[in-house]
Amino acid sequence: MEEIILCKLGEMVLKGLNRRNFEDRLVKTVKRRVKHYGQFKVYVRQSTIYVEPQAEDCDMDGAFDALKVVFGIVGLSRAKACPKDKDAFVDCAKSYLDAQLSAAKTFKVEAKRADKSFPLTSIELSQYVGGELDEAYPNLQVDVHNPELTVRLEVRDYAGYVHADPEPGAGGLPVGINGKAAALLSGGIDSPVACYMIAKRGINLELVHFFSYPYTSEEAKEKVIQLAQELTAYCGRMTIHIIPFTEIQEEIRRACPENLFTLVMRRFMMRLSQAVAEQTDCKALVTGECLGQVASQTLEAMQVTGAVASMPILRPVVGMDKEEIIRTARRIGTFDTSILPYEDCCTVFTPRHPKTHPTLAELEEAEQALDIQGLMERALAGIELVKVTVQDPD
Ligand code: ATP
Ligand code: MG
Repeated sequence: MEEIILCKLGEMVLKGLNRRNFEDRLVKTVKRRVKHYGQFKVYVRQSTIYVEPQAEDCDMDGAFDALKVVFGIVGLSRAKACPKDKDAFVDCAKSYLDAQLSAAKTFKVEAKRADKSFPLTSIELSQYVGGELDEAYPNLQVDVHNPELTVRLEVRDYAGYVHADPEPGAGGLPVGINGKAAALLSGGIDSPVACYMIAKRGINLELVHFFSYPYTSEEAKEKVIQLAQELTAYCGRMTIHIIPFTEIQEEIRRACPENLFTLVMRRFMMRLSQAVAEQTDCKALVTGECLGQVASQTLEAMQVTGAVASMPILRPVVGMDKEEIIRTARRIGTFDTSILPYEDCCTVFTPRHPKTHPTLAELEEAEQALDIQGLMERALAGIELVKVTVQDPD
């Protein structure tokens, strides 16, 4: 019989009445992800999603790896189906887990019985199969407390399954169950990590990028699209709202005191992002700001930039060290793209002596020289939309 993939559902199991909704959403995501690797049947039973290949040529390794990054799944294993019979379980374990059984020194068998009509209890089945394996593999000793290998048997409604310990999944909550937020994605290291972290809490993202052609190049835009593309493995398909920012930056440079350039600019970013958020049914903004990292990321700077937005601003990396952020960026696969050397619009008009302890009154006064409404309208009218979707493997 077939090898299948079992995905163990995470926190959502706890969520009572919403569980069906969560499961349905996750099943849809799993279906979308595995279709790139062949024809699979996907269904949920008893807090586990079953992914069954329907053809010989299904790429099981590819599907397994793709599912490892799906939020809402806490553990995954490949399992072998067998008839629901105690000796069939023994034979299946011997053939399917032979390599692990031959290599381990200690083991135990853990059976779970969802089908209560099965003639043995879970304990009886574990003891029977454990005894048989103990005899068949002289290298093995039973250790029920701290075994090197746990042979897991599941007696489900439709079949029995044999598998070893699950590998860790991505955890978190299925993307979309907690609504939508607009994330400000630059080409840097921090904002892709911020996107990842918020998506992990079940949030769907609209992406916003500010683009200052010709001060920032076409390559800088391509880089952001590539980062977004890389994030789709976790976040699913997304739309990038690329907002022309040149006129605003030039106006700020013309009319505002140099030491406030960055802060005025960041207030425009927040206003425009909120406008996009409102149009796309988002309930929060997300940034990659980190406390104390640069002049515009002091508490006072966050206060004056946040003051123009009424939506909550989520800053998931705010308390992380750069090293921790980099480690995460490497793990999720965005780091190498983030360090490509293209300039970001923030770096183009950086003041020599940025104000680190600004007040709201100072900012509001500086902005009186600007036609905020007109600048916003023109920027919003020039938005370019780029869609990114999970791509087929090479
Ligand atoms: P990152 O590594 O994410 O670029 P950073 O340390 O360079 O962060 P800043 O340049 O001050 O920090 O930007 C802080 C946050 O503002 C970014 O994490 C991002 O959320 C947002 N941001 C900055 N520049 C842009 C941009 N061009 N488009 C969209 N968002 C931006
Ligand atoms: Mg940056």
